[in-house]
Amino acid sequence: MEIRSTGNPIHWVRTQIGDKYAELLGEIQRAAITLDLEVFVVGGTVRDWVLGKELKDIDLSVIGDALVLVDEISKNLDITIVKYKKFHTATIKTAEIEIDVVSARSEIYNYGGALPEITLGNLNDDLRRRDFSINAMAISMNTPYEFMDPLKGMTDLDKGIIRILHDQSFIDDPTRLFRMFRYASRFDFAIESETCRTAETAIAENCLTTISKERLTHEMVLILNEPNTDSAVKYLIEFDVLGIPGVYNPLILFSTMKQELKWVALMSMYEKKYYEMFFQKFSLDRQNANAIKEFINLCSILDDNDADLLNEMDIGRMYLLLKGIPRITLDAYVICNINTDLVKLLQQYMMYTDRVKINLNGMDLINLGVDKNQISEVIDVLIIKTLKGEISSKSEEELIVVQYVNGSND
Ligand code: ATP
Repeated sequence: MEIRSTGNPIHWVRTQIGDKYAELLGEIQRAAITLDLEVFVVGGTVRDWVLGKELKDIDLSVIGDALVLVDEISKNLDITIVKYKKFHTATIKTAEIEIDVVSARSEIYNYGGALPEITLGNLNDDLRRRDFSINAMAISMNTPYEFMDPLKGMTDLDKGIIRILHDQSFIDDPTRLFRMFRYASRFDFAIESETCRTAETAIAENCLTTISKERLTHEMVLILNEPNTDSAVKYLIEFDVLGIPGVYNPLILFSTMKQELKWVALMSMYEKKYYEMFFQKFSLDRQNANAIKEFINLCSILDDNDADLLNEMDIGRMYLLLKGIPRITLDAYVICNINTDLVKLLQQYMMYTDRVKINLNGMDLINLGVDKNQISEVIDVLIIKTLKGEISSKSEEELIVVQYVNGSND
């Protein structure tokens, strides 16, 4: 498909996201005319427009200083604008969308993974510094709204391929590996063969070691939030991006999984002895860090005991081993299906323990003479006896408690 002019981008913004945003874009267009600046719609916005996808955020590139443009807009509109002076970029924030306005520029990476040094430049410079050809097309917001595609992004969109723009791309910015997996899985595109080889070489040269834990974590969060996480994770593991031995497990379905299980599920695809190494690579929030620690703990409990557990299926012993493990961690083990026999056992265990209900409460136990410090021990005894089917009523529980109290007083 060849496109020369798209018509005024404001029209398609109006049809896709509504009048309010079309008017905002209209203000930007007016400001550009007042300042005699050329402005282009660029990046993911053009890609999604061509693909007929829903528009989310809008990317604009200004030939000149983006900050001058947003200053002009802010004279007429009461909106939130966040400026990043060092990079000459700004984000216009509205309730539903963000408009990222950058100054067209070229970028130089002094070393792999560094933040780039920027020099203001023309549209060509700005398109060349981008990650992939499909993200390097532009539509002018000045008449006649020319469609600019010097790097042949349209051809790649037509063919359904992801292609980098130069062979240093992943070394300069290794986060592009993650971006590549996201786009390939999101659009079900193939990774162009030379891009594939370049990625493999960069990974083999440990390119990821040049980026911070925080950036790596951020990229991983984006992967885990992709609509088609399963395929993105498959790429991640097959390209051995993290340098940890692992095998993609197609039985783990991220798309239907609770958010809080995703990190654990991802880790479970790596060899168990590298779980700690996986954990150390990221800077996780407390909830996810705890989920991972609990999972590692559960795996080591099961590893230390699995032969015994499987042979005996002693529900009392299982209860004592697993009572401190959060239910979500047990669920995670089942979902990740690390050891099929143990999964079956855990499922049975969860079914039994879900049904167990003790009739006596703490106050009842104290009234029956149980010492405060022994309450949890007595409750364990009652739960185990109930799990084993040895007792099933309040009076039977009371009898056990009385025997226990008499026994411990002897
Ligand atoms: P998404 O739908 O995932 O947000 P997007 O293409 O809009 O996709 P952004 O992260 O918003 O992605 O970036 C906007 C544009 O900026 C991209 O389309 C690309 O042209 C450029 N870009 C972003 N990150 C990089 C990067 N790491 N290297 C080179 N270019 C980048």
